[in-house]
Amino acid sequence: MAYAVSPPRHPDFPVPGGPTLRARGWRQEALLRLLENVLSVAEDPHNLVVYAALGRAARDWPALRAIVANLLAMDEDQTLIIQSGKPVGLLKTHAEAPLVIMANCNIVGQWAKADVFYDLQKKGLICWGGLTAGCWQYIGSQGVIQGTYEILMRIAEARFGGDLAGRFVLTAGLGGMGGAQPLAGKMAKAAILCVDVDADRAEKRREIGYLDRIAPDLETALSMIRQAAAEGAGLSVGLIGNAAEIYPEILARGVIPDVVTDQTSAHDLVFGYIPRGMSVAEVRGLRDTDPDRLIREGRASIAAHVQAMLGFQAAGAEVFDNGNLIRTQAKQGGVENAFDIPIFTEAYLRPLFCRAIGPFRWMVLSGAPEDIARIDDLVLDLFPDNRIVTNWIQLARAHVPFEGLPARIAWLGHGERTRLALAVNDLVRTGEVRAPVAFSRDHLDAAAMAHPNIMTENMADGSDAIADWPLLDAMTLCSSMADLVAVHSGGGGYAGYMTSAGVTVVADGTPAADRRIEHALTNDTALGVIRYADAGYDDARDAAGRHGIGLIRTEE
Ligand code: NAD
Repeated sequence: MAYAVSPPRHPDFPVPGGPTLRARGWRQEALLRLLENVLSVAEDPHNLVVYAALGRAARDWPALRAIVANLLAMDEDQTLIIQSGKPVGLLKTHAEAPLVIMANCNIVGQWAKADVFYDLQKKGLICWGGLTAGCWQYIGSQGVIQGTYEILMRIAEARFGGDLAGRFVLTAGLGGMGGAQPLAGKMAKAAILCVDVDADRAEKRREIGYLDRIAPDLETALSMIRQAAAEGAGLSVGLIGNAAEIYPEILARGVIPDVVTDQTSAHDLVFGYIPRGMSVAEVRGLRDTDPDRLIREGRASIAAHVQAMLGFQAAGAEVFDNGNLIRTQAKQGGVENAFDIPIFTEAYLRPLFCRAIGPFRWMVLSGAPEDIARIDDLVLDLFPDNRIVTNWIQLARAHVPFEGLPARIAWLGHGERTRLALAVNDLVRTGEVRAPVAFSRDHLDAAAMAHPNIMTENMADGSDAIADWPLLDAMTLCSSMADLVAVHSGGGGYAGYMTSAGVTVVADGTPAADRRIEHALTNDTALGVIRYADAGYDDARDAAGRHGIGLIRTEE
């Protein structure tokens, strides 16, 4: 079947692909293509910003050029060391060691604050890698689309009889990640209204096929939503406006959506969130001249924004925080009960993480959509009884256009990821797919993230703030032959809030790739199950027992 491919986004940053090898081996070439790919789908590639306001692919242009030069020249038995987006060493290791290891934006605890980060960034000493930007794993809005869809479906199952047909979903933010929301909402059959203050962002989502329509004003937007809901038709509508003004206005009109969330970049008050009454251009000007004003007014706006979300909740809507620190900012802005709004991980997804089911992804380095089609078929063959995955692959085939290198995301768990990647490595070996395939996952994964206001909020044993797990994950991955391993901590407004680990494994069709897949992908998810079992979750203990995952023997 033919898949929709979004038009190239930036003429200066072409999507990589094709059979020609420029580096000394496919593993190096793969990582180079992934780096080129994150820039080709980036929000602002000329400034190396990939998504989430400040998430960068490399520290600066000289660092980027040096990374490329090293990836082109290095041998398989070397390891490139990257510190906050800048290559700092190329060491002799061995062919089974990672090709690239990186640590991005890790600041010592007492100093891990937004203002320290901005200062270090200004001095050129650090950059924030986001989750998937700095380690070259970002695949455009598709990266979070299944996660957003699964959240909406869990809500649909719990409250609305199985899907969101006839339901009104209100959200905001049409940026790199938030841009997945309209399509995910439509796939769940909702009438979804997405507010963004920046008309260019909304237009971009419309152009790439993630957003159906842009309404000229609130009145028209609500009438489009009413009509789509009455017909039970999935529809996404964009509205240009500030969520801190539009949400209270909708509430004041007595219109109560069925589901409410938000994915503006509320985590960063200087480079992300736009305060009410200000234009995007005005905010750009104030970043250097008066950041304190942006922080003050941003926090006051977020307080109004979250008050409205609480108002919707009190009126019966299902309201959740979608991972952008908006409740934390609101609480600091005086909204004492901001945390009455639940976080999506705890509310809907934790049972999946207990079994290490999470956002696994693959990118075909050929650039050929047909290679994804072949792997889609393979997934359907391998996991016919996995309803989440078979349903998702069929929906994704029909609805998700590719941005950059054709890629697919699917929430797979322990054992499943390894099985799929080994089978894909076979397809590479036999030439059934045209070139090697890279596997990675979001950092929002069972073993990979400590974030007490997102991933690990309200853990059963109170271990929310313990960051040992992502560090252990990264060390496990290094000792398990992964091709790239990254340790990231939060930057900008996320400074001090999180630590996470990332991994990439390249299936180049060789027996060595079989071993890398077997070790790295299996151990990554095994540690995820262990993390939740250790925290006391029965689902994780069951999964450990079923899969024979090595929990530590206790004294007899
Ligand atoms: P982005 O910077 O690319 O986009 C943010 C968007 O919000 C922009 O389009 C901006 O115009 C809009 N915006 C800012 N202030 C606004 C306001 N007051 N009203 C309306 N629109 C406003 O960021 P992104 O990559 O889309 O990420 C958004 C947030 O989601 C970030 O905080 C990010 O860290 C978080 N995130 C969560 C998950 C998750 O797993 N749930 C995953 C990735 C990112």
